Amino acid sequence: MAQNESRVALVTGGSRGIGRASVLRLARDGYDVAFCYQSNEAAARELEKEVQETGVRVLSRRVDVRDIALVRELVAETEDALGSIDVAVTAAGITRDNPLLLMKDEEWHDVLDVNLDGVYNVCRSVVFGMMKRKSGAIVNISSVAGVYGNATQSNYSASKAGIIGFSRALAKEVGRYGIRANVVAPGFIDTDMTSVLTGQVKDKALESVPLGRLGRADEVADLVSYLVSDRAGYVTGAVFQIDGGITI
Ligand code: NAP
Repeated sequence: MAQNESRVALVTGGSRGIGRASVLRLARDGYDVAFCYQSNEAAARELEKEVQETGVRVLSRRVDVRDIALVRELVAETEDALGSIDVAVTAAGITRDNPLLLMKDEEWHDVLDVNLDGVYNVCRSVVFGMMKRKSGAIVNISSVAGVYGNATQSNYSASKAGIIGFSRALAKEVGRYGIRANVVAPGFIDTDMTSVLTGQVKDKALESVPLGRLGRADEVADLVSYLVSDRAGYVTGAVFQIDGGITI
């Protein structure tokens, strides 16, 4: 993709956190951006305004990534309004932590449905168009929990590990069509998802981070921006940890 062509990116979970930062970063990179969210209408409207100020076009919809019919509608609507989707970033995600012995069935299924089925639903919906155009870049947001596992997060860790296997399989399937699929696996990033960590729990978590701080969503978005760009033209099927060194 030439840098001066009009390009279109679709981001899930765009209203907050890492998805939001990715929407803004891609807009600043010159992409027209469509994003979806679960329920936070106010955050979505505010982000729309911010994106418009960058001079690119924006479309946002309340779309639950668990529902493939709605995801397909979002893809069709985006392509009608903005043009073919060049880039997909799947950031929608949730946690429902509990030790396995206490885990409720719905906590298991909710997390797998949003985090893993959601990624399938999006990739399944965009990949045919990318194959036809012989070009595309996908970044799925996993987690270090998906690489190493986290106690009390068997559901979340399984969903995030699933994203890695899924993305690597996809990279092998679609590489010959000029499509790249990569994974970003963040550590502790300062978003609403980690704002539940306070006091001693937070201090203890930070003790294990060599850089001694939480990461910022915009730092993750910088990596996303690189991975979808031509600068990463030979990068596919890779898992990039961005974790302040927590896993070394
Ligand atoms: P966040 O601040 O809690 O934001 C989550 C986003 O996902 C929101 O935009 C939310 O929409 C959206 N969302 C949730 N369920 C959805 C659904 N069913 N359909 C559509 N959108 C949905 O989370 P975050 O910290 O930015 O995390 C983003 C991604 O990074 C997640 O996949 C997460 O697992 C991963 N991650 C985060 C961290 C971290 O430390 N923060 C670390 C590793 C990995 P609403 O605003 O409408 O609720």
